[in-house]
Parts: sequence; structure tokens; C-alpha cells
Amino acid sequence: MAILKEPIRGVLDLQNYIDGEWVDSTGELQDIVNPATMTTIGHVPMSTADEMAAAVAAAQAAFPEWRRTPPLARARCLFRLKELLEDSFEELSRIQTMEHGKTIDESRGETRRGIEMVEVATGIPNLMMGANLEDVAAGIDETLIRQPLGVFGIIAPFNFPFMVPLWFAPFAVATGNCVVVKPSPRAPLSQSRIAELAEEAGIPEGVWSVVHGDQEAASAMMAHPDVKGVCFVGSTPVGREIYRRCGATGKRVIAQCGAKNFAVVMPDADIDMTVASLMTSFFGNTGQRCLANANLVVVGEGLSASEHDAFYRRVVDAFVSMASRITVGYGLDEAVQMGPIKDPSSKERVLGYIQKGIEEGATLRLDGRTFDLVGNELPRDCFIGPTVFEDVTPEMTLAQDEIFGPVAAMIRARSFDEALSMIDANPYGNAASIFTSSGRWAREFRYRVACGNIGVNVGIAAPMAFFPFSGMKDSFFGVLHGQGQEAVRFFTESKVVIERWF
Ligand code: NAD
Repeated sequence: MAILKEPIRGVLDLQNYIDGEWVDSTGELQDIVNPATMTTIGHVPMSTADEMAAAVAAAQAAFPEWRRTPPLARARCLFRLKELLEDSFEELSRIQTMEHGKTIDESRGETRRGIEMVEVATGIPNLMMGANLEDVAAGIDETLIRQPLGVFGIIAPFNFPFMVPLWFAPFAVATGNCVVVKPSPRAPLSQSRIAELAEEAGIPEGVWSVVHGDQEAASAMMAHPDVKGVCFVGSTPVGREIYRRCGATGKRVIAQCGAKNFAVVMPDADIDMTVASLMTSFFGNTGQRCLANANLVVVGEGLSASEHDAFYRRVVDAFVSMASRITVGYGLDEAVQMGPIKDPSSKERVLGYIQKGIEEGATLRLDGRTFDLVGNELPRDCFIGPTVFEDVTPEMTLAQDEIFGPVAAMIRARSFDEALSMIDANPYGNAASIFTSSGRWAREFRYRVACGNIGVNVGIAAPMAFFPFSGMKDSFFGVLHGQGQEAVRFFTESKVVIERWF
């Protein structure tokens, strides 16, 4: 077996990081389990409402001085944090694989994307600048100032345990706010490590805190009057509830939620390139990505019925052939292309969807319930192979629900318009991709499709740190998005000054 270089030895007992101190929680402990080996690698506390309140109080107390710290000096802290993250790049990536299951290459990609957020936020002296105009009326000048608001909370999902809080925290802190991060209890290790590095980088006490836990801690964050806004990333039912609760108390919200993404393949697409790009989109991160494509729509625009049939066969056969060659095993093994799913209950959920697909009449072309495991001695509790269903119709549960596992649904559409109406009818609107060599179809697609992140011959439409991470319909609640300039706007209040001097 390959040498796996696990950075975590033994069992880590996580503490909260509040007011620059590492403190024990009085909350119940939950096991953190490596899904590839099923070994317990840590314990995470379910922090209490009081512990969350203590973190918010410390953040509120730190705010006045941090706010007065010049943006350039705040940026210097982030430069130091960036260097420390780079120094720990491999360790951070390996931690993600151990706590989540994704392959080491996927973890390295996540670490890189996370660091890019910090890099972009170091540009805060420019990003945060306001605007002014002389002589808006005779002798009167007007100025726009962007000011930080105070304390922001971040509630994160398990599937990108390192990167997701970094979509927000560096921008919040760079703009002069303080943050309290509540990581997912299912994969909390990365955020504790980031807080250690933030401390080492000299980010002052109370400016960047971490409180572990689940609903009680999250609920206390949302209820706290000193929390000015909440950034949530997770499932749609929880996001909807968070949006409602924060709205009731006048908090700003970014709520990035669930997804069911479609990839549309036009007859003029390059099949080999398309299918290669679709593999990582459908099966990367074991399908546990909000940007993963899950429905593949093969379009017969301009083709006769038999030509459409032949085209569909070629695409599906190429897809199944590549998917069947994906190697499954422990993500720290460099030869492995797909790791386990997060936990046994997630696997149960995915198996339930496979059963439902069969019952609803779809054809199971590639059955992920049987597969070869690289490293036969590993427990199979969380492993599942790539799964492909054919003859799926848009009404089937398979095509409707967010499965969040390595299950692909192959669908036919006679025309481009029919493909688009399938996407329209789905409640989610996170991402969509088109594969074509026609500029006309590509333009039409990006113009009309009601999804926030669009790929043209790109399977995972992940916006870079300097663009907003978008989302529409049931995939996003809010107005401004995370990352880049929009995050800066979210974390600041616009103040306008109108001046006249006698
Ligand atoms: P989840 O909704 O179960 O949990 C997310 C976070 O919310 C966790 O920190 C959890 O502790 C907390 N939480 C759970 N119930 C809560 C409640 N009632 N009140 C307050 N907080 C609560 O999501 P998950 O399973 O960790 O993550 C997977 C989901 O996240 C998928 O639906 C995926 O599509 C979505 N996601 C979306 C994006 C995006 O950008 N749109 C990115 C990543 C993941």
C-alpha cells in the first residue's frame, strides 16, 4: 500500500478559540471520523449558547480598535496569514482529506482556492475605497465612505471544510470587522488549524474566533443582537430558515444553499473533451460539491430521431466507460481518483436514491454498489463507486433531488429549448454548463439560463476569488454574494457625506 503520510496522529480534542485563547467547551463531544479508515481522529464539542455569546462579546470588544487599524496594517496581517498558509499547504491539504475523505489532489485544489481568498483580500486599501464628486450642486461636494459594521458570523458546511469560511472571513476582517466562525461539526479540523495560523499571523484577540458546534451555537449566533450579519453555506432548508430568522432581526445574510446542476451537451460538442471534463464535475469530491453536475442532458437539436439516438449512445457510452475506470480508495493515496463519501448515513442516503431510481424505471448502467477498492483492507462503510443511470426523465426523483453523491443521471432533450425548460423547472439554480462549439448556443445559454454560475465547455463553474460566487432560485438567499468586491460591499455600510463650507 502507498505511504499515506497522515498529519493527524492520535485523537485531537478540539477547543474553541475565543478572545485569543484556546478554551474547552462544556458542550457534549462528538467523534470526528476519517471516512476512509473509520478511525476516530478527534472530538469536537457541541458548544453552548453561552460560549457563542462569549465569542461574540469578545469580537464586539475587539471591533473598535480593529476598525481604527489602518487598512494597510490589516492587510499586512493577511499577508502574514497567507505566508503561513503557504508554509502549511501540504499539511492543511492532508487534514482535509482525513476529515472529509476527498482525494489529496482535490484537497490541494481547495487549499489553493482558500489561499486565493486571502490574497485577494490583501488588496483591501483599493477594494474598500469609496467615491466622491465635487460640485454636486454649487459649492457642495459629496463623498461615499465604506465603513465596517462590527461582528459577522460564518456557518459552514462539511464539504469544503477549509475553503468555504475563507470565502468570507478574509474580506470581513480586511474591511475592519470581526468574525466568529462556526465550522461544520462533521469536518471541523481545518478551521481550528486556520485559527492557529491567524493567531500566529498576529491577528488581534477577538478579531477571528472559532466556536465549534451545531444548531445550538448557530442559533445563538443568529439570535445575538451584536451580530450584524451571517454568512451561511449549506443545505437549502437550513439556509431558508437562517434567511428568515436573520431577516426578522435585521441582520444581513448571504445564504448559499443546495444545488442540482445540469450539464447540457449539444450535438456539435467535442465528445472526448466534454466527457473528460464531466468526470471531475460529476464524481469529483465524490459528488459532494454544490457545483457538481448531476444531470447530463444530451440534446438532439437539428438531428433526426435516429441521429439523436446515435449521438446519445456515443455520449453515454463514453461517459460510462470513463466513469467505470475511476479508482476508488483512501484519498491520501495519490493513485486514487475518488475518495469515500462523508459518513455511513450519507452512503445510506445515496443507496436509497439508487434504489428509488431503479423503482422509478431508470436504467442502472453503472452500479456503484459494487466496485473495486484500492487498498482492500479498508472498511467499506463510506465507500461507493461511480453510478450512472440512463433513460432518466426530469420528473424522476433522481433528476430532481440533490443526492450529494457520485450518481449521474442521463437525460435526453429533443431541443435546446427543451433542455432549458428542464433547468427552469428545477427549483435549484446554482450552476449549469453547456458543451458546444457554437458561440450562438453558448450565448443563448448564458443569456437565458436561470443559474448563478455558468460553465461554457467547463464542468465546474467555480468563480475565482475576485468574482462573486453566485447562485439563484433555491440555491441562494440574499442580495450580495461572497468573494471579491461584492463581499466587501456586504461587510461594509455605505455612508454618504454631503458638504458645504460657508
Ligand atoms: P447543512 O445545512 O446540514 O449544514 C451546514 C451548517 O449549518 C453546519 O455548520 C451546521 O452545523 C449548520 N446547521 C445545521 N442545521 C442548522 C439549523 N437548524 N440552524 C442553524 N444552523 C444549522 O449542510 P451540509 O450537509 O454541511 O453541507 C452540504 C450542503 O451545502 C449541500 O446542500 C450543498 O449543496 C451545500 N453547499 C452549497 C454551496 C454553495 O455555494 N451554494 C457550497 C457548498 C455546499
